[in-house]
Amino acid sequence: MKKEEPTIYQTVLQRGYSRRTFLKMCAALAATLGLDYSQTNTVAHALETKKRIPVIWLQMQDCTGCSESFIRSSYPKTESVIFNMISLEYMELLTAAAGFQTEAAEQNVLKKYAGEYVLVVEGSVPVNPCYLTIGGRSGADLLKEAAAHAKAVLAFGTCSSWGGIAKAKPNPTGARPIAAVLKGTPIIRVPGCPPIAEVMTGVLAHIVTFGSLPETDMLGRPKAFYRHRIHDKCNRRAYFDAGLFAESFDDPNLKAGYCLYKLGCKGPTTYNACAELRWNGGISYPIQSGNPCIGCSEADFWDNGPFYTHEAKLPLTQTTINPEKWGAGITAAAAVGVGAHAGITAAVKHHQAKDQNKGDHHE
Ligand code: SF4
Repeated sequence: MKKEEPTIYQTVLQRGYSRRTFLKMCAALAATLGLDYSQTNTVAHALETKKRIPVIWLQMQDCTGCSESFIRSSYPKTESVIFNMISLEYMELLTAAAGFQTEAAEQNVLKKYAGEYVLVVEGSVPVNPCYLTIGGRSGADLLKEAAAHAKAVLAFGTCSSWGGIAKAKPNPTGARPIAAVLKGTPIIRVPGCPPIAEVMTGVLAHIVTFGSLPETDMLGRPKAFYRHRIHDKCNRRAYFDAGLFAESFDDPNLKAGYCLYKLGCKGPTTYNACAELRWNGGISYPIQSGNPCIGCSEADFWDNGPFYTHEAKLPLTQTTINPEKWGAGITAAAAVGVGAHAGITAAVKHHQAKDQNKGDHHE
């Protein structure tokens, strides 16, 4: 006889936690989901009756930053999400297996949980077939296979949501957001480079608690976390309204809290929860620490960002090469390299599809 799966509450008790701890977890969860404190009972009831959901986490063209951020969640703690609320059946970063073993493990969970699992995707998908081939199969193929029987598809991070850094010019891999490959599949976008840990765990917790996908805006982002611009909740906003701006990165007024708009802050056009939830358990976020928002949760942030465009315009000697230290020879060699790079870039641009950006945002 098939053994009955325990409910989330039973799993919590089996792990040695008390009911008191369970209720505390429910209260923290309700707060993360943006619910009123009085809704704690609703969350508790859901977790008492619902079973854990299987999750399959695929990594495409990524830097593993989203996974790293995810495993640092404070509330709910990642361990409580992973061990009590979801059953993380497959994730390359955390798996002990390698090579054929890993591929076999993925195939097993895809079959075993067909129609039940939530698919999380981190990283962009290259359309250039020279990149991201695993076990002889392309990343796009693997993604389509995993999405075919998923209950929900979550794009964690700016790369899977919008294409991210890999899609920045000159985009040699032909990187695209997963929506460009999974046409017609509803996708919840959780952008950020990386996303805030509590936003990722919060989205998963919503699906577990209510058995449904969170409400999203017109771009597919969960409203609970992406309804405000950074600018709306910024701790420097009063200085913006008063017209008080830091003029340079070594301006003493920057430390005093002046607005960072003149230093290229993208807060006025960026939707994310950094100013509300903050990072590392709510300690701080970039603007509070003196760095302008770079708009990392918005599409094409790398190409549109204030710093990267600026750097690209600097003369070679002002970027990474110091001729006094390394000599004119290295500088000349670097200049030849830059010239070659420019040539390759032009060739790649010429051959890459002109419609690279067409439709990605609305697929
Ligand atoms: S620092 Fe950026 S987000 Fe904050 S008030 Fe100034 S412009 Fe707005």
